[in-house]
Amino acid sequence: MRSFRLFEPATRLQSTASQGVVVVYHQNQFAMFEGRLLLDPDQVMYFGDTGHRLMLGHVDGRPCELIHLSNTLDMPGVSWHGLRTLIGQVDDALFRLLGLAQQLDAWYRGHRFCGSCGGAMQPREDERAMECQACERRDYPKLAPCIIVLITRGREILLARAPHFPPGFFSTLAGFIEPGESAEECLHREVKEEVNLEVDQLRYLGSQSWPFPNSLMLGFHAEYVSGEIVPQPGEIEEAHWWSVDDLPRLPPKGTISRWLVDCYLAQLDGAPVPPVPA
Ligand SMILES: [Zn+2]
Repeated sequence: MRSFRLFEPATRLQSTASQGVVVVYHQNQFAMFEGRLLLDPDQVMYFGDTGHRLMLGHVDGRPCELIHLSNTLDMPGVSWHGLRTLIGQVDDALFRLLGLAQQLDAWYRGHRFCGSCGGAMQPREDERAMECQACERRDYPKLAPCIIVLITRGREILLARAPHFPPGFFSTLAGFIEPGESAEECLHREVKEEVNLEVDQLRYLGSQSWPFPNSLMLGFHAEYVSGEIVPQPGEIEEAHWWSVDDLPRLPPKGTISRWLVDCYLAQLDGAPVPPVPA
């Protein structure tokens, strides 16, 4: 069951006085109480002291805020959960809301002072921005766009593993888009750097917000053209062509990496393409 039907993001940060729902956050973890992460404000008054509140948007028409606690009290029944541990444990809509909450909170806390003059910054009333009270500099939430690409060669797909991946786990290639670079240029550069291959027939398939810490993943499919695999030292521990009939351990359902693989498998089978994960 979905936790709610519709989430509409807010266009400003300042919280409202009207009654709504809240998520409670402290030291990069969300509070769960009675099995729920979306809580009534009345429930949370004994969780700890409020540091700041941020408007997130509206959940089924009700205002939804983040309450950042400056400290926590020992409240029975409250458990704390990092966002990564909630992957696959909550529905996509709630995960997306919590991802937004975590990104906005990190951005807000990182912009209390102006990067130009050092003056104090405050949320603007009319838009989701922090503004310097001295020099009027404005800062907006930042996204880091990344490409993520599934490379195929007939019934083979290219999967690689980074040194920090769990044992036996392989994924698609990904990389951050540099200033001045298009997504397509980034894709060609990253593929060349990470595995020394040339690709073409680029097709953009879909995107996913990935809040670790603030990425927007742009998912592509590309076809192999030429080259022998040479893993980039320090970045890629292993990279191989895998038969679609004998794949290694893949990223979990709900990730865009897994979705890119599933899309190709569906295409080979003549099956409908699965919907892009939220
Ligand atoms: Zn300033």
